[in-house]
Amino acid sequence: MAGNPITTTTAEDDQNATSLGFDTLVQHAGQGPEHWCTQNALVPPIVTSTTFLLPGIRDKWIDLPYVYSRQGNPTRNAFEICIASLDGAKHGIAFSSGVTTALAVTMAFLKTGDHIICGSEVYGGISDQFRQITSKMGIDVSFIDTTDPKNVEKSIKTNTRMIWLETPSNPCLRITDIKAIAVIAHQHPDLFLAVDNTFSSPYYQKPLELGADLCMASVTKYINGHSDVLMGILCTNNDEFNEKLRNMQLLTGGVPSPFDCYLANRGVKTLPVRMERHQQNAFAVANFLQKNPRVEKALYPGLPNHPQYELAKKQMKGFSGMVCFWLKGGFDEAEIFLNKLQLFKNAASLGSVHSLAEHPITNKYDHLFSNQK
Ligand SMILES: *Cc1c(COP(=O)(O)O)cnc(C)c1O
Repeated sequence: MAGNPITTTTAEDDQNATSLGFDTLVQHAGQGPEHWCTQNALVPPIVTSTTFLLPGIRDKWIDLPYVYSRQGNPTRNAFEICIASLDGAKHGIAFSSGVTTALAVTMAFLKTGDHIICGSEVYGGISDQFRQITSKMGIDVSFIDTTDPKNVEKSIKTNTRMIWLETPSNPCLRITDIKAIAVIAHQHPDLFLAVDNTFSSPYYQKPLELGADLCMASVTKYINGHSDVLMGILCTNNDEFNEKLRNMQLLTGGVPSPFDCYLANRGVKTLPVRMERHQQNAFAVANFLQKNPRVEKALYPGLPNHPQYELAKKQMKGFSGMVCFWLKGGFDEAEIFLNKLQLFKNAASLGSVHSLAEHPITNKYDHLFSNQK
């Protein structure tokens, strides 16, 4: 292979070659043998090599696709191209977990003195990171209810650099109007919008098409779909963002292993069928709960009683597999309920082939209960 550069194509090439549908892109984008150093393998191999043969000493490393595994890896590349194509993006950049993507974004684009607007209801690991790490860098974070775009508009300061929002949100499935927030963000030249798309997956929602600059997902959830990989991905159409984020892969080493990339690349092949079934099951569960006299309220973005049902219909192609509900009673009733479940397991996370139920407030607000222990 010496002196024989490996050809790669971008997600854009793969998408523009033909106007392929979502289900086809899942199977094909970035997966062809031209992406591989192994000659004719049809399934992307697990390339565990951390270092790659260089064509010669005159070639600049920056121009080579594979030099060292932190900088680039063929198994990772196949997965990144595939997910980018699903998000309608030019670039996909994978990290070792969902929360690592937020750290990479902070380190790539923000500096001391900057300000972040973050949704008041986002994944706890991300808001904790903003509170405990990002704030230490001298970056100010405001937690704002993004479901009303006016709140966001009012909170923008001269030093606001990023809006980070999650829709549907974890855990109460609040919906934020991505298009409206993107319009507000782009009235300010230095402000970009990042959307955590974990809860819908690219199958049901495409934030970049709605105007977001960055689309993030915890691959750990729906995309891998089997509760056996921890990984995150950022997708963007912005070449400069891509360059800076790839540099973060290189400088931080917060990259997923080739084996994890292989598993996630395999898991995503069934994303379309899994999402359809997740949605079908969620409708059944939400309808059942809504009619149950012991349930105070059940929320699912696909049901008309959800306060933002119309917005959900407008910006999502489907409503995913998460249902949120309130039992009549209190903590004790919730405990009895969770203990009596048989097939559903009391466990954190979502989006896998397992059915899980969780009482998120218990751990998130542990300090509130510390006097009871
Ligand atoms: C799980 C999750 C994350 C964090 O991802 P990890 O892969 O666990 O680091 C971020 N956002 C949302 C909405 C999540 O559900």
